[in-house]
Parts: sequence; structure tokens; C-alpha cells
Amino acid sequence: MLVLVINSGSSSIKYQVRDTETHEVLTKGLIEEIGSGEVKDHAEGLEIIAGRLDEALGGRTVDAAGHRVVHGGERFSEPVLIDNEIIRAIERLAPLAPLHNPAHALGIRALVKTWPDLPQVAVFDTAFHRTMPEHAWRYAVPDDWYRKYGMRKYGFHGTSHDFVTGRAAEFLGVPREELNAVIAHLGNGASATAIREGRSIDTSMGYTPLAGLVMGTRSGDVDPSVVTAARRHIPGLSSADDLDRVLNHESGLKAIAGTNDMRRIVEKAEQGDRGARLAIEMASYRLAGYIGAYHVAVGGARALVFTAGIGENSAPFRQAVVERLGALGITLDESANAERSDETRRISGPDSAIDVLVVPTDEEAAIAEATEAVLTAR
Ligand code: AMP
Repeated sequence: MLVLVINSGSSSIKYQVRDTETHEVLTKGLIEEIGSGEVKDHAEGLEIIAGRLDEALGGRTVDAAGHRVVHGGERFSEPVLIDNEIIRAIERLAPLAPLHNPAHALGIRALVKTWPDLPQVAVFDTAFHRTMPEHAWRYAVPDDWYRKYGMRKYGFHGTSHDFVTGRAAEFLGVPREELNAVIAHLGNGASATAIREGRSIDTSMGYTPLAGLVMGTRSGDVDPSVVTAARRHIPGLSSADDLDRVLNHESGLKAIAGTNDMRRIVEKAEQGDRGARLAIEMASYRLAGYIGAYHVAVGGARALVFTAGIGENSAPFRQAVVERLGALGITLDESANAERSDETRRISGPDSAIDVLVVPTDEEAAIAEATEAVLTAR
């Protein structure tokens, strides 16, 4: 099946065409500056993509579209076939993901206009975490905050955590339903997930993708009083928007090391830069803490899995993390860790208590597979 995978943002549309049989990427591209540049709106963007696909696919046509949707709220626990009611449900979740969900809905509506008969599937970033037990997803705040305003842990990167869990189980030769693991998705955004019997039972992101690990430009966990104190005392931080901006875009590795690019941070640390060293220490320390907590939560993990930009590519960062896991009996095979490869691989030492793996994530492949599964089950 040929699946057009769409990630529709407020001013851009990223697309790929995947063949689910051969796993090939047949074509991919990006439409940018929608609204501010030459492309007037999402509908025009989709018209341009349609033209490009006619050229690139040599007479073949796509069978379905799969959309990445950031927020599925409490309703969506798996991918769904899109109809008008589903589009409205995605729009109604806008208060939980104001930058993303309205933009996804624009992309979906534009696609309906361009290809009225093409089946469309929504794949939600939150859905994989719907299996978390309530004691993991509730916050200890007044009941109304949850019941009236939906303030609870949702978790994100679900499509990636799900995909990587499946690949890790395959690599280890264990049925997925029997796999206990900790997955560390370390990109510019980063999250750790506790996997018990193949399902998510806890994850480090929360109500929004701001919680948990030290990320590229996001703070991760801080005492909430820091936020209220910043609002009281720091000039220029009087509004919720200001605080959102600083915590999401001016914090994390960037605040400590001066850059959010892990390659640069490692280089600077090797040259003795104090901020860069501290940033690696903070990020690896925070992650090691989550790994310990989730090892306990899953009743003993069989594997620790690194994925995404930093997890797949930064041997020094993986080493900094595993060096902190001695109490769990986890060791690294340094030469396996240093090897560069696009394949799933084991990097733990022969004496390690659990396997440490690197598994390349592929969210577009996961969305294409999920889209096919929904349409096949119809
Ligand atoms: P992602 O969000 O998964 O695309 O990951 C982006 C992050 O991966 C960036 O912060 C980069 O610093 C990091 N990254 C990509 N390639 C490398 C590399 N070779 N070494 C270290 N970090 C890398």
C-alpha cells in the first residue's frame, strides 16, 4: 500500500510517500512559509504536493493518507479512520495542544478538498500512553483541575516509543507482550517511557511535552514554585506566554551550554568548556534517575533502549548515561557503543545485567504501518 504520511504544522506541511510492502520512501518533501510566503494556505500547499506526487510516483497513486496528530486527549487510544466528527474532535482538543492540533485539522481538511475519496487515518502522539494506570497519570492537585480542565499526564512521542518497543522485542527475539524495558527517546525533545509487557505504564513528559528530561531548549522537571517565583520576581516574565516561551525555547541544554546541538556540546566539553560539561552531567543524571525509577516501575527491565537524534548518534552521551547505571549492573561495550550504524544493535557489555540497545526510530514508517492496519481492519 502507498501511504502519504503528513505532518501538518501551522505554517508548514511535511510529507513522505511510503510503500508499506517494500518499506521504501518513494518521495518526500516540505512546503514552508504557508500564509507568510508564496503559498496562501494549507489547501494550496496540498495542491502543490499533489502536483509533485504526480511527477514523482510515475503513474502510481497513493492509497491512503496517515496524519501525525500530537494530541488525542483521553479519547484516542489508537489510530482512527478520519471523518468529519473525528476532525471536530481533533479541533476540540486544541486547548491541550494550541500550536499543533488546529494545524493538523487544517492539513486534514485541505487533504479532503484535494483528494475527497482518499481514506485518511489519524495517528496520535499520546495514544500509546493511554495504557498508563491512573496512579501514574494523575497529578496530586485539586480534583477540578483534572475534571474540568483535563490537567493530567498524557505523554508524547508515543508513535516512536511504540515503534521502538516493537523493534526491540523483535531484535531480542521475545514476544512483544513479554517485553519489559525502558525506552529513552532523545531528540531535541526527549522522553523516557516505562514499558511493561509491551505497553506504556509511565512516561516522563506530562500534560505537555515540557516535563521530564533536560531537553534541547526545554527545562524538563522544575519545582513549580520556580515558575510562580519567576512570574513574581523576574522583570519581563509577567505573563503565561512569557513563561511558556522561556521554559520551552530558552531553557534546557541551550540555557546551560549555550547551544542545543549535542554534537557541539560534546566538542565544547572535550575542550574543557564548563557549561557544556555541566549540561551533559545534568541531562545524563536526570535520565539515569528516570531509568532507575522505571526499572522499578516495570518490575525489572530486560532492556534499556536509546533512540532518536541523540540516542542513535551520540556515543559520548550514551556513555555518560550508562556510567551512572552501575548500581543496576548495567555496563557498556565501548567499541560497540562507538560504532556508527543505521541498524538496531546491542551496545551493552557481556557482563551487563540487562541489554542496552540502539534502535533507530522511524515515526513515518510507524504512521504508514498504522494507517495500513486501520484500513485493513475496516
Ligand atoms: P531529533 O529531534 O530526533 O531529530 O534529534 C535532534 C538532536 O539530535 C539534535 O539536538 C542533535 O544535536 C542531535 N544529533 C543529531 N546527530 C547527532 C550526532 N551525530 N551526534 C550528536 N548528536 C546528534
